Amino acid sequence: QCPWGAPNTTSISCSLADVMSEQLAKELQLEEENAAFPEAVAVAEGPFITGENIDTSSDLMLAQMLQMEFDREYDAQLRREEKKINGDSKVSISFENYRKVHPYDSDSSEDEVDWQDTRHDPYRADKPTTTPRKGFIGKGKDITTKHDEVVCGRKNTARMENFAPEFQVGDGIGMDLKLSNQVFNALKQHAYSEERRSARLHEKKEHSTAEKAVDPKTRLLLYKMVNAGMLETITGCISTGKESVVFHAYGGKSATEDKVIPPECAIKVFKTTLNEFKNRDKYIKDDYRFKDRFSKLNPRKIIRMWAEKEMHNLTRMQNAGIPCPQVVILKKHVLVMSFIGQDQVPAPKLKDVTLSSEDMKKAYYQILNMMQQLYKECNLVHADLSEYNMLWHDGKVWLIDVSQSVEPTHPHGLEFLFRDCRNVSQFFQKGGVAEALNERELFNAVSGLNITAENEVDFQAEIEALEKMNEDHVQNHGKKLSMFSGDGDPPIYDE
Ligand code: ADP
Ligand code: MN
Repeated sequence: QCPWGAPNTTSISCSLADVMSEQLAKELQLEEENAAFPEAVAVAEGPFITGENIDTSSDLMLAQMLQMEFDREYDAQLRREEKKINGDSKVSISFENYRKVHPYDSDSSEDEVDWQDTRHDPYRADKPTTTPRKGFIGKGKDITTKHDEVVCGRKNTARMENFAPEFQVGDGIGMDLKLSNQVFNALKQHAYSEERRSARLHEKKEHSTAEKAVDPKTRLLLYKMVNAGMLETITGCISTGKESVVFHAYGGKSATEDKVIPPECAIKVFKTTLNEFKNRDKYIKDDYRFKDRFSKLNPRKIIRMWAEKEMHNLTRMQNAGIPCPQVVILKKHVLVMSFIGQDQVPAPKLKDVTLSSEDMKKAYYQILNMMQQLYKECNLVHADLSEYNMLWHDGKVWLIDVSQSVEPTHPHGLEFLFRDCRNVSQFFQKGGVAEALNERELFNAVSGLNITAENEVDFQAEIEALEKMNEDHVQNHGKKLSMFSGDGDPPIYDE
């Protein structure tokens, strides 16, 4: 039932003469007022407290109050419908995005910044709205007594129908509501900015829920991949880490004949929220492959560089025959690769599987082998090697997560290698592999270096000394020492 009572239809007409007489009446009134209260007129400025045009400002308040009331009812209705649709189903649909977001209800202040867009904005969002009711009752009576404004006011009310469809104007005609030109224009402007504001707010909400999934830009990238037929469907999320989100997808058809898209793919989306990446600076900043580029890049591009790095490193590993995901495509910060696992179930991490002692031993020797290959053939140190980044699939170990991998001559490359060795040794020693080398033996076995220090502290000191020696050599001779790779200079990286 309508809270405003039955509408009584009024015929609306407005001639030029009416408008003219309205203006004339206004001018006369203004003159009168100016003569009576010259100061009061001069100071009045704000949209709510006006000396110049008291009656229209109460119109404005009336309109705002109506709008709020209407929005509240609309939202309540929406909630009822939402509840009815969802029932007690486990999966629920949210109507949240259809909710009216009203500036007077809103308590978030950061949103108000954008209001400065409109040069003359009669609505100041920070205006207190505590007194409208009083103002409206006290002054409302005056409006209807001005005959010349009535007709034009009705016409303005009717014109509100032209506002954006989602802008609820209410049944102004039925109520015989009259809006002055000034109020109507203000409302029109309000309708416009409200529309944009609402769009912005909803967009923002999308960003915050995207913490778990992805932001709209990434979604568009993924959508394009599906649309191009490269991916069949994106089924769901496998992992949400600090720095990336990984999805599973079924592969589609490749545009080019020579390239085959694997039946199942993993999509690694590097997070574009930057704070998490700050602590990774040291990996890339000191990597001479990226040295020239790093300083010139904006943060968004740096994140793309992580994805790019992972792609290049995976390709090197693939070429060396190390079991790892195969690169399918790289688009900005989204890397598509082959899926390690089957039927949407990712292969378990080494930390999550219980292997027989025989498999455990097999895995150990395989990893020792892979670390050597990685170092000698790929000229890489994984730099985040642990049971978390090794998957057990098809009876063997697969290496993943190589975006942070560096070349051995990286200023901290040997330290990273030592850390990798420690993780691996500890895991397999705890796992009962009697043959497992300790971290120092493993380090020497992988690097081909012969550091003889008997304890960890001395060992680490020697590693750092070696790194420093190499850095000094770069300073003095502009190139790296060849001592690490064994045969000549390490291959200079090119794309
Ligand atoms: P992060 O930097 O977040 O650790 P990872 O590359 O390690 O990123 O991926 C996170 C998780 O996603 C992995 O632990 C693994 O379970 C899963 N994953 C990543 N790539 C693949 C892939 N190619 N196939 C199957 N699972 C994968
Ligand atoms: Mn990982």
